[in-house]
Amino acid sequence: MASRVSGRIEIIPISSEQDLTIDIASFGPENARRILLHSSGLHGVEGFAGSAIQLQLLDNFPALPPDTALILVHILNPYGMAWLRRVNAGNVDLNRNFLIGEEHSGAPQAYAELDSFLNPRTPPSRDFYFLKSAWLIFRRGMPALKQAVVGGQYEYPRGLFFGGRKVEEELEKYGAFLRRSLSSAEYVIAMDVHTGLGKFGEETLLVESGNYETLRKGLSSRVVPLEAESGPAYRIRGGLQNLVFQGAPHAKVHFIGEEFGTYPAAKVLHALREENRWHHYGDAAKDHAVKRTLKDTFCPPSESWRRSVLERGAELIHRAIRL
Ligand SMILES: [Zn+2]
Repeated sequence: MASRVSGRIEIIPISSEQDLTIDIASFGPENARRILLHSSGLHGVEGFAGSAIQLQLLDNFPALPPDTALILVHILNPYGMAWLRRVNAGNVDLNRNFLIGEEHSGAPQAYAELDSFLNPRTPPSRDFYFLKSAWLIFRRGMPALKQAVVGGQYEYPRGLFFGGRKVEEELEKYGAFLRRSLSSAEYVIAMDVHTGLGKFGEETLLVESGNYETLRKGLSSRVVPLEAESGPAYRIRGGLQNLVFQGAPHAKVHFIGEEFGTYPAAKVLHALREENRWHHYGDAAKDHAVKRTLKDTFCPPSESWRRSVLERGAELIHRAIRL
């Protein structure tokens, strides 16, 4: 991917029937003091936006300040992108998987109550989903419902937002890469691109609340603290930031989740739910309407949406370089 500008390439193979890899390109000095880390595709099918941002960057490569390296990590969940799933081959949501000092067990009480609604043990069908979800939003309130559903669960291996039973191969291998590459870093800005959260075409930059003021000033008014009770975000267990913090123990780390909104939450959840039913209780073939819907849900076939992703994506990297 990075041959047009001179970068060092590292290819991490992921066990699979096909040749699936996480491809990493590093630019600038080895053992740089400042490192910009840009990753895409942690959620497989969400990876088209981040991948496009990275390819665009190679065509218009920025000048790096002294002692600064830029690392592009292309598709952390290649299985999910290849098979149009948000999760990996083990049905694991990799952004709920990296727990430190915690067991991979448990589920919110409300998730358990909603399991049969979220994860029907039947192939996709019309079953009054939108009516039921409107009732649930009315009964429980959107913030509480969202937190219960998408915060992460470790009890339903075929269910949505399953965080796994152990740290998955993708993160084991990526973690080893980070420990090697970030060991001498003093300052790391990590950007991880996702889609499907927020309003159509709008960018939200989710950051740890401790870094909120600095990043809002330095980057954008679209910076939002991850722990905010209002707004589009929610708290998750086992997020990727834990892996980056652990990989750079001596550095000041800013972790930014760059989200591009697509459709309302109930519609996004429906697309995930139907694809999950097809995967576990249908024949899971890629050539099926629920797969196309899932792809369009996370990468809308809209010129203006895609233009906005490319513009905002480039802008974030350029601002982060100057931060
Ligand atoms: Zn995501």
